[in-house]
Amino acid sequence: MANGGPVEHGFPHLETVRAAVTALYRRLSYDTVQLFATSVAPAEVAFCDGDDLHLGAQRVARELVRHYRLPDARMVVAFREMEHAAHVELTAGPEYFIELNDRFRTHRRDIGAALAHEIMHVYLHRLDLSFPGTRDNEILTDTATTYLGAGWLLLDAYREDGASSQKLGYLTPEEFGYVLAKRSLVFGEDPSVWFTSAQAYTAYGRGLERARHDERQPPLTAAGWAGRRRYARDRRQAQDRRAGGAGPGSPYVFAPDPVGPLRVTFPCPTCHQRIRVPVRGRVRARCGLCRTVLECDT
Ligand SMILES: [Zn+2]
Ligand SMILES: [Zn+2]
Repeated sequence: MANGGPVEHGFPHLETVRAAVTALYRRLSYDTVQLFATSVAPAEVAFCDGDDLHLGAQRVARELVRHYRLPDARMVVAFREMEHAAHVELTAGPEYFIELNDRFRTHRRDIGAALAHEIMHVYLHRLDLSFPGTRDNEILTDTATTYLGAGWLLLDAYREDGASSQKLGYLTPEEFGYVLAKRSLVFGEDPSVWFTSAQAYTAYGRGLERARHDERQPPLTAAGWAGRRRYARDRRQAQDRRAGGAGPGSPYVFAPDPVGPLRVTFPCPTCHQRIRVPVRGRVRARCGLCRTVLECDT
């Protein structure tokens, strides 16, 4: 887990984040994702300065192991001087060694956030789910941590005041907010009540806006007027040429079908798997991966 440096903002990793959500549904299945409907509760990972450092870290690690349903895994947490914020040795287990940066000795309230990320590495390692390259794999880890209910801790560890800033993980605060919002839209949970950091609250609001934006793209019936108009124009062009349409960056693509009607593909707003439906007005589709029912006007 990286440490320090200026805090990046916005949505620079959105494509990888979305691919991570799709990969998670593919590997875990809808039913397993549903087991994570409840987030880690603040009380389960609370860490006061009065708590014993090592006993407290072990206790929080145990809570996260339980949350992720890794019953036979044991985390051994140690502190040392290091460049990174934290590190975990990915071995066959059942014992895993996690090292936390010495600075957490005096920033105990963020130990839960650091452990949530490191223990997710173990979880993904056991699933044999990874993305090539450190950057993408860390984005997958942050996204999975957040989608499965422990990432609000990482967003809450983001604090900025005049003199200093702190952020854990590879996603920007807004991206953490985005994944958290996608999760909350699926499970009907409101994570904003858990934030202790004002900046986390703001970033969540931006992420939520972005997540709602995904749900208002044509051909979904929830799309706005401008989007629908653009869609109708692109569809006309596609029907004339029996293919293509839609400019660069468009979420939907028209695909020719030599025997049947023209089809349109677009990303599922929940899991981002591509959905394909015939172009023939009102269509109700169900995403095969995350089971979201999609009302479309194609
Ligand atoms: Zn990591
Ligand atoms: Zn889906």
